[in-house]
Amino acid sequence: MSEMPTLGSTEKKSPLVPVAIVASLVGTLSGTAWWLTHREARAEVPELVVAADAPVTPPAPSAEAPVAAVAVAPPVDPTNAPTPTTPLGQAVAAAPTIVPPAPRRGAGLQTVTTTIAGPLESAIVSQVGKDVGQPLTQVVNRSLVWWMKVPGDLLKGDVLTAVYEERAGQEPLVHAVRYSSRKFGKTFEAFRFQGTGDAHARFFQPDGTTLEEQLVPSPIDDYEQITSLLRDGRGHKGVDFKAPVGTPVKATFDGVITRKNWSFRGNGNSIEVEETGGQGRTALYLHLSELPKSVQPGLRVKKGQVLAQSGNSGRSFAPHLHYQLMKGSTVVDPFKSHSTSREQLPAGDRAAFEAKVASLKAQMPADAVAGN
Ligand SMILES: [Zn+2]
Repeated sequence: MSEMPTLGSTEKKSPLVPVAIVASLVGTLSGTAWWLTHREARAEVPELVVAADAPVTPPAPSAEAPVAAVAVAPPVDPTNAPTPTTPLGQAVAAAPTIVPPAPRRGAGLQTVTTTIAGPLESAIVSQVGKDVGQPLTQVVNRSLVWWMKVPGDLLKGDVLTAVYEERAGQEPLVHAVRYSSRKFGKTFEAFRFQGTGDAHARFFQPDGTTLEEQLVPSPIDDYEQITSLLRDGRGHKGVDFKAPVGTPVKATFDGVITRKNWSFRGNGNSIEVEETGGQGRTALYLHLSELPKSVQPGLRVKKGQVLAQSGNSGRSFAPHLHYQLMKGSTVVDPFKSHSTSREQLPAGDRAAFEAKVASLKAQMPADAVAGN
């Protein structure tokens, strides 16, 4: 190897690429049980291919990127987290301490720190094993996509830290994500926090803004997390909002209902709305609860009007709304077609949020790259 392309360069094919593709296909197959892998009838492209097109570089020593932080921190009771006066910062500068990747089971908060040297999943699996690492990769990926293109912007030598909790029969619950990016020369952080009056915990950045952008107008107001975006590399055609069954689903523009419950096995209870007097868009709402009798083709609807309730019907592995925009036969990204916003943590929640951040940071090693 005379040249060492970074992970972000796509032109040069490394001989490791076929290996990586096979590896990620194996991961894809074994990971399909997770709820986010549902497929709709209209989504012909297989989902969950996060790492399949990740360009790969043979791991090589790099002067500029410390590859030291490989320790898995011991489990900590989340209700009794240590104070921020005891950071676990030694991992960066000290000689590498290789801890065998023995997955730990279900004992409160755990920390994984890993240096990117290929696909994100490989980096995480190398630390915590496949059973935890594969679903953990999917959850972590949902945070990273708000900051950068995955996998295109991930570079060898970047350092990821996640604080998470294993849960029986469910994907891991991630409490904190930190990503030190060489491409952007900075460290991104997000912390899970439930504000006063919020039905769900959400990820906030250190400045108190939400990690996720909201659609304006949004097809659903009260949701837990966006679990699939068009740009997340999974070839998915819609935006998935994880939300309890029965959450109101709204029209995002004035229009006419043109179809309902087509391709029922895949889509479940579903509504198609064609926009009137606007940009000629079509909105698809899939996996709904049983539709109200009033929902019939030909019915005119107004922007903001509640159309139905979210559900878990059709090919869906957990309650969520699939919202998809089309112009003719072209899929449109709602995050480009709609306005977007980020919410700000209410001032009254700031102190509690800072305390939560401090306790989570106490679980994380010092920032290894960008010194944020
Ligand atoms: Zn979907």
